[in-house]
Amino acid sequence: MALYREQGVVLRSYKLGETDRILHLFTQGRGKVRAVAKGVRRSGSRFGGRLEPFSHVDVQLYEGRELDVVTQAELITSFASVRGDWVLSACGSAMAEGADRVAQPDERSNGLFLLLLAGLRALSDAPAHPAVVLDAYLLRLASVAGYHPYLEGCASCGAPGAHPVFHIASGGTLCAGCAPPGSQPLASPVRAMLGVLADGDWADLGAGLGATGPDARARRAAGAVAHSFLAYHLGRPLRSWELVPR
Ligand SMILES: [Zn+2]
Repeated sequence: MALYREQGVVLRSYKLGETDRILHLFTQGRGKVRAVAKGVRRSGSRFGGRLEPFSHVDVQLYEGRELDVVTQAELITSFASVRGDWVLSACGSAMAEGADRVAQPDERSNGLFLLLLAGLRALSDAPAHPAVVLDAYLLRLASVAGYHPYLEGCASCGAPGAHPVFHIASGGTLCAGCAPPGSQPLASPVRAMLGVLADGDWADLGAGLGATGPDARARRAAGAVAHSFLAYHLGRPLRSWELVPR
């Protein structure tokens, strides 16, 4: 059995038998790995609390036929503050669910790995509006998955400028000539907010975008567009997205 060492984030875990857990790990080098942590639910387990959801860990595993087996785990960042707050934890769960859906076994994706860590770090910095951090992550997750939202012009004819209609199936904004009849234009603060979600600095997103930032309604509307855009390309919505208070 081959031993290997990886850096990874625990996306989710569930109970197996009396004392074990199955983990979905997203690793930097091997993509998604399903592994068993034996005895982790026993008090005094050698893993301690190091394999909780969101934990960024350095792990050693050996390859199994169905599931790999964790033999060692060292904590890099616990993200305990995210787990310990229900709003942050709901956002972190939606981030992890999204990563779990996009990640593939045996497929390295450094972009996804860095995005997930950036999202969790932004949550752990106690953002003013945690849902904004989540929605930015979701829009960027769509980009990492190969569906970058085109907001700089018309996604159909290429006409430059800020166009008011966001058309999910076309992959971005559409000009008046290309938009299907009856399309609902986005209010301009919502369109502006989408641009911030796509490209804004994590620190600014976390700080709540200042006193002149978009109001709650624009934030919610842009967040709904970000989630719908990702859900459309992934084939279904994220279950944990709806649990996030807005
Ligand atoms: Zn057009």
